[in-house]
Amino acid sequence: MALLILLLASSGSAQQKSPNPAAFQLTLPTDNDTIFSRDPSRFYMYTYRSFDGVSSHPWTAGRYGFVRNQRRTSHGIIFTRFHEGVDIRPVHRDKKNEPLDDVRSIADGLVVYTNKVSGRSNYGNYLVVQHNWGEGPFYSLYAHFRSIAVKRGDRVKSGTVLGRLGYTGAGINRERAHVHVEFTMMLSERFETWYGKYFRSPNHHSIYSGLNLSGMDIAGLFHSKKENPKLTVAEFVRMAPAYYTVAVPARPMRSLPIAKRYPWLEQGREPGQFPPAWEITLSSSGLPMEIRPYAKKINSIILTGVKNSPVNHSYNTLKRLSGIGGEAKLTNSGILYIQLLTDSF
Ligand SMILES: [Zn+2]
Repeated sequence: MALLILLLASSGSAQQKSPNPAAFQLTLPTDNDTIFSRDPSRFYMYTYRSFDGVSSHPWTAGRYGFVRNQRRTSHGIIFTRFHEGVDIRPVHRDKKNEPLDDVRSIADGLVVYTNKVSGRSNYGNYLVVQHNWGEGPFYSLYAHFRSIAVKRGDRVKSGTVLGRLGYTGAGINRERAHVHVEFTMMLSERFETWYGKYFRSPNHHSIYSGLNLSGMDIAGLFHSKKENPKLTVAEFVRMAPAYYTVAVPARPMRSLPIAKRYPWLEQGREPGQFPPAWEITLSSSGLPMEIRPYAKKINSIILTGVKNSPVNHSYNTLKRLSGIGGEAKLTNSGILYIQLLTDSF
């Protein structure tokens, strides 16, 4: 009997350790489940907008993507500010209108960071949970907490309460209280070195700064996962619309560090063969989607392709590219971003 129990116990732990992307499951972080309803305006918290002298409260600005800062161009109105997550409205308030919603982990994971000094971040009080289903580490980030109920190193289950929804952080008040939630990939484990090289203000958030976490379309992920329960995160990332490609010099006989972290990013390389350079495909917001061998030897980062756009690429790419149409170039901030992404700094 003892032997049987031992065998069962060991096979159980082996199952947990082996990669299992299919084990990837998501639960909504609050009691607000209207994301799947016919009226998503009840899911998203609005912003205050003033455009052409007209004030409005568009819920659409709470969505993920280029949803803020309207700008009139000769090709119509575009939105130039990228919102890297979703802003979820509270569904519980007390008589003073204080929000009461619990915020819960969207999946099993490990609390890797908490910021409880709200003035140190636009996110206010925020925390980061690491998840791993065998496709590399993904990170959910939750912001604007009133209070945080977990600490770094805590293992959490899907649905574990992380804290109370609030309105800490920049540009937010009690009326607009919400939880901002992102689902992200880490750009570099050497983020602090990169940051120290290019920024003067102190970095209080180690590698868990929002600058080092590239957010994917989290609402799209919830919807896609509902349609296809077997969907893995890697499959979802590759579904994002590609916007540009860059090539970077390769180090001899080595994959890029980000491809070691997310092996599914690297495609098209023969085992044991290493190219002189790599070509990386990115979404408009800079989410890395694919890394392939690039046959030409190059000495610096170059732009190798861009989606055609009638408006300036800078509006569509967080100013990482400039130019119009099929013509574009990497800006300084674009080069710094690719340096971070490829650990070449
Ligand atoms: Zn937000």
